[in-house]
Order: sequence, then C-alpha cells, then structure tokens
Amino acid sequence: KFITFEGIDGAGKSTHIAFVSDYIKARGIELVSSREPGGTPLGEKLREIVLHEKMHLETEALLVFASRREHLAQVIQPALARGAWVISDRFTDSTFAYQGGGRGTSLAKLEALEQWVHPDVQPDLTLLFDVPLEVARARLDATRELDKFEQEKADFFAATRNEYLRRAAQFPQRFRVIDSTQSIAEIQQQIAAILDACF
Ligand code: C5P
Repeated sequence: KFITFEGIDGAGKSTHIAFVSDYIKARGIELVSSREPGGTPLGEKLREIVLHEKMHLETEALLVFASRREHLAQVIQPALARGAWVISDRFTDSTFAYQGGGRGTSLAKLEALEQWVHPDVQPDLTLLFDVPLEVARARLDATRELDKFEQEKADFFAATRNEYLRRAAQFPQRFRVIDSTQSIAEIQQQIAAILDACF
C-alpha cells in the first residue's frame, strides 16, 4: 500500500505521521517512511533548491517532478514491489495544490508531467489534513514559524487549500479529508478507523 499525507503548512500533518507509522508497524508490516520534495539524496538537494532559490514557476514544477522521479525509482517502486508499505509526507497532490493552485502553473501541464513521471502509480490512500487558514496561521504562530506564512500571501494558501479540496472531491476513492481542527486524540481515532479498513 502507498499512503500519502497532504495539507497546507500548519494543518498538523506531521503530528500524525509518527502515529500512522507506529500503527502500521505494530501489524508487523515492513514500512518505508519518506517525504517530498526529497526522499533520496538527490531529491533532498533538489528540495533545498526548490525551497530557497527564486525561479520561474514552471522550473519549480519541473524540479519537484524531477525529485519525484528519483523518489519513485529509488524508494517507492522498489518498496511496493517487495510488498512493503510506503508512507510519504507529500506527493503529487502537493504539486497540484502548491505549484498549480498556489503559484498558478497550468494544471494541464502538471497532469502531463504526472502522466510522464508516474502513469501507473497512484496512492492507495491520501490523508488530507484540512484546516481553515486562520487555524493554520495560529499554529504556525505558536511554533514560531509565522515567517513562513507571512512570506507567502494568505491568498496563496487559500488557493492551495482550494486545489486540495478540489482534488479530494475529484478522487474520493483514495482521499480522506480529515478535519484538522479536531483534537489530536479525535484525529488519531479517525485515522485508526481508516487504516483498519486497509489491512
Ligand atoms: O511539508 P513540509 O513542511 O516539508 O513542506 C516544506 C515546504 O515546502 C512547505 O512550506 C511548502 O510550502 C513547500 N512545498 C512547496 N511545493 C511542494 C511541496 C512543498 O512549495 N510541492
């Protein structure tokens, strides 16, 4: 199984990845835990460039997909082929949300890249951690990451969130939208029920 985690900055996604990892490993399943952009040595170099250099919006989309191509070849596909489960902190839905919705790269071009890079691979399950922008902002403030939010425009995150929700509606069979304003305990209970249906 291939499980991806998605959500805007401050949605609380990372809090729940460790829980999911422990929950799956407790079943005796081999689990590979990874992230994007990144997941390989080359991918991590590309991540640094994507996150810190200014570039044309389509260059950014191409680099994110280059990182993904390597991630699929080196990590995701070999793991799935030997029967391991893979969880990835972000995958292609992030590209649609951030590079597409947020920055405005044409969704048709992103779809073409997706067809090129992984025509045969889609997550079996995508957990989308969803929160209103004010909640995300308050959380980033609490963890002193507000700079991140201020650097970008609030409308950037609104567009990013909208594209996530649009994709969740488009692919309801693999998406589960989690109301991330709930308590951690409530969210864990919900995630456990979702995972129980996968075993
Ligand atoms: O999820 P994580 O905190 O690792 O994301 C790091 C940063 O990368 C986030 O601030 C997010 O805005 C950005 N990002 C991006 N495009 C992607 C994936 C992540 O701009 N496709």
